This record gives sequence, C-alpha cells and structure tokens, in this order.
Amino acid sequence: MSRKWSWLWIVVLAVSPWLAGCGTVPATGRSQFIMISRDQEVRLGAEARDEFVAGYGGEIQSAQIRNYVRDVGAKIVEATRLDPEPWDVPWEFIVLDSATVNAFAIPGGKVFITRGMLSRMNSEAQLAGILGHEAGHVTGRHSARIISNQYAIAGVVTMIGVFGELQDSDVLRGIGVGAQVGGTVFALSFSRSHELEADQLGLRYMTRAGYDPEGLIEVFEILKSLQGGAAGPEWLSTHPTTDRRIAETRALIQEQHPELINGQGLIVGRDRFQQNVLAPLRALPPPRHRP
Ligand SMILES: [Zn+2]
Repeated sequence: MSRKWSWLWIVVLAVSPWLAGCGTVPATGRSQFIMISRDQEVRLGAEARDEFVAGYGGEIQSAQIRNYVRDVGAKIVEATRLDPEPWDVPWEFIVLDSATVNAFAIPGGKVFITRGMLSRMNSEAQLAGILGHEAGHVTGRHSARIISNQYAIAGVVTMIGVFGELQDSDVLRGIGVGAQVGGTVFALSFSRSHELEADQLGLRYMTRAGYDPEGLIEVFEILKSLQGGAAGPEWLSTHPTTDRRIAETRALIQEQHPELINGQGLIVGRDRFQQNVLAPLRALPPPRHRP
C-alpha cells in the first residue's frame, strides 16, 4: 500500500469511533456529529457560568431589570418547549453589569446579555429577538458541535502521531487541543451556518411567544449603525451584521412566517421596555465593567 493510502486508513480508523457520536439535534431535526452528551453540556455551562459573570462586572444591580429579562427569557423557553423534542436544560437569562455591547450563550442554557446592549435597544420585541437567537445557539447545540469537531481533529492527529508520522506537539497546540474546557472554546465564533440557523430558531421562538419578528431586524440595524464607533459593539466581532444578514432575516420571515408580515396583533412592547429597562438604567451607578 502506498504511503498516501496508509494515511487514509489511519484517518478512517481514527474517525470511526466517533461515528457513534452522530446524533439528531432535536430543534432542527438534523443529524449532526456530536460527541458530548446533554449532561456534559450542562456541566460545562454550570462551570463556566460564574467565570463569565465575574469577567463582565457581575450581574446588574437592578432587580427590576433582572426580573424583566428573566420573564422575557421564560417566554422564549416556553416557546422552545413546543419543539417536537424540547431541549431540556437549566435555562438562565443573566444581565451583566458591563458597558460592552454583547449577548451570548454557553452550553446548558446559560444566556447572557450586557447592560450596554440593553441600553441600545428600545422594545421588548428586540430583546425577545436577541434572546431567541441566543436560545437558538443552545437548542441547535452549536457549542457542542464545535467541541465535537475539535475532539475529532485532535483524535485524528493523535492517531497519526502514534503511528510515527507526526510528532510535533505544536501541531496539536495549533489546532487548539487542550483548550476545549474552561471557557476558551466558548469564545470561538460560530460559523455562518450556525448564525443563520440561530436566526431561524430565534424567529421561531420569538414569534411563537407572540413577538413581532421585525424586532430582530431592528436590533441588527441598531448594531450595524454602531459599527465604526470608537469601541464598536463586541457582538459584531462574532456576528457580522451586514446588509446581507438583514436581507436573509427578512427572507426567512417571508418564507417561514408570511402570516406575520403586517405585524397586526404582535407584541412590540416599547412602553414596557421603557418602564422596566431604560428608566431603571438611568438610576444606576456606572457599569462595573468597561471594554
Ligand atoms: Zn449568534
């Protein structure tokens, strides 16, 4: 057998144990390569949660804002429970006392939004859009998919190393092996397809909860308008918010929720957002965390 073909066999042998890791992602119904279990995801999320809270200035010091965001989050969670196989995780919606403009999710249902992001928004539908999008990363199991791919690459390279073809530990470090646990992996950007899927799931959840899907587009437009400032929104570093993304979101609404286009009877909630977020924000001391 030529050297080239023996390499191929090594790769096949190395990958085969993980074929058992293929599973269906309930939210999308698609079969995906996932090696970590729901319980592992929940453990990772629980471990990383406090690190993120501490790293972003702690939770916001307003019970009114915390409760309001938690309640909107609860409506999104209720909407995820209408999926044929709901993704049952210990959901939590946390407002960080940070001036940074960002929102993100880690495995196991932990969703974060910063005070900086809230201060730029002006309706409950916009908040529901962002929380829905982040919930979509959780139910789409996007972190688990990235972690699984990293394990798989690590496995393949280790096997090749064992067979004496590659022994340079720099190669392992170069692909990020050893960085899977402890938060580093969560800083990874999701791929474009993950983002599109999260937008799709986010629209599904926010509209099931009765919100005007236009809210998600409005948030994209707000964030886009902040681009190019002295400190642009951190969210944009992981979520390129271009005219293309906005057009794609609009197309998703037309395709999947045509009945909602005129917006009649849908929740926008500008007054509620004003009363429960923007007014209490003005009474708070400055954010404890700044970019
Ligand atoms: Zn995203």
